[in-house]
Amino acid sequence: MTFARRPGYLLLLCAGLLGSFPPASAAVRAQGSKAPDAKALDTKARDTEPPDTMAREAAGEAVRRILRLSTGTVETVPLEAYVAAVLPAEIGAGAPAAALEAQAVAARSYAVARKGRHADQGADLCDGVHCQVFLGLSRATDATRRAAAATRGLVLAQGGRVIAAPFHAVCGGRAARPAAVWDDEEVPDLAPFEDDACLASPGARWTFFLPRTQLPALAARLGFPEARFLEVWAHGDDARVSALRLAAPGGKSLVVRAFDVRARASEIWGWSSFRSTDFEVEERPAGYLFSGRGTGHGAGLCQAGAIARARRGESCAAILAHYYRGAVTVPLDSLGARP
Ligand SMILES: [Zn+2]
Ligand SMILES: [Zn+2]
Repeated sequence: MTFARRPGYLLLLCAGLLGSFPPASAAVRAQGSKAPDAKALDTKARDTEPPDTMAREAAGEAVRRILRLSTGTVETVPLEAYVAAVLPAEIGAGAPAAALEAQAVAARSYAVARKGRHADQGADLCDGVHCQVFLGLSRATDATRRAAAATRGLVLAQGGRVIAAPFHAVCGGRAARPAAVWDDEEVPDLAPFEDDACLASPGARWTFFLPRTQLPALAARLGFPEARFLEVWAHGDDARVSALRLAAPGGKSLVVRAFDVRARASEIWGWSSFRSTDFEVEERPAGYLFSGRGTGHGAGLCQAGAIARARRGESCAAILAHYYRGAVTVPLDSLGARP
């Protein structure tokens, strides 16, 4: 029983969800597995940078080249303006200040750590859930610009390197380990946390009934259309389900990653069907009842929890310390790194 992690699987998941996930679209944001070496990408990126990018960087202004997926064009924008512009789509412009600031630090860290992610297309980041949702600089509001300004230059780091800080909609009470979500070598090593702040939020608890008659359709997408039964097979060290076993009459079976099951179920029934991999399954005569916690991958910042903590008076620093255990918040220039 082996199940290989599939490079690019999360990308497929996100492609399936694109456009359907309100406003915390980053809940399913993929960091993607097997990201190319960042240094190699940076070198390549510099080789292809257009003159306006170099002129702005020479003037001391950090910029990011954003690939607009709908048109294929690349838009060069100042980094800090980019951070202010992604907040409305990622956490909602109406979030309280400390939560916006925490999200700004995460968004900036991501943009720094993943610079050159789309070097093949002459860009740093795309404007979709694959990277961070960017709908244009005009989407920034006074509140999101204030959050970017209040945290200007601050990033999350670990071992002297900026991390591609993960975040998601609702953890539902406990975190996922980043390494259980992505098999990228550069995924940060964040210690698990428990969270009581998001428990009253929409999506903190969910159920999904999978009729037995629908199981073959799901199993077919996982390469095993003969399947007629399923069971939880394994849990990760973060207590989330890591694998399920599909079984067919006659004894044939296949073990599949829980993340793959969630991705394929989302393709068929939408993102709100199978919201996370933190669940139990109860077999019933007519099918399987999944009862779960949280919405999204569960690693890093819990946006619903961050909003609740900000409302009860916690600071941006306290929120970041709660959700990024093992990382520190530091000025980027203290790391001697280029933005
Ligand atoms: Zn992207
Ligand atoms: Zn939470």
